[in-house]
Amino acid sequence: MVMHELGHVIGAGHAEDSGQLMSAAGGLDTSFGDGDRYVFARLGRGSCASGL
Ligand SMILES: [Zn+2]
Repeated sequence: MVMHELGHVIGAGHAEDSGQLMSAAGGLDTSFGDGDRYVFARLGRGSCASGL
């Protein structure tokens, strides 16, 4: 799944819930689940932007 791989590109790991896009199974759903949003929200809290 393209969106799953894109998640890895930006640094996301796998979600434990198999229903999430970022699950290790590759994600059967094409939309982001709560776990996916949690992962991306955490990634968005990085210091790269505010550290400039
Ligand atoms: Zn993966």
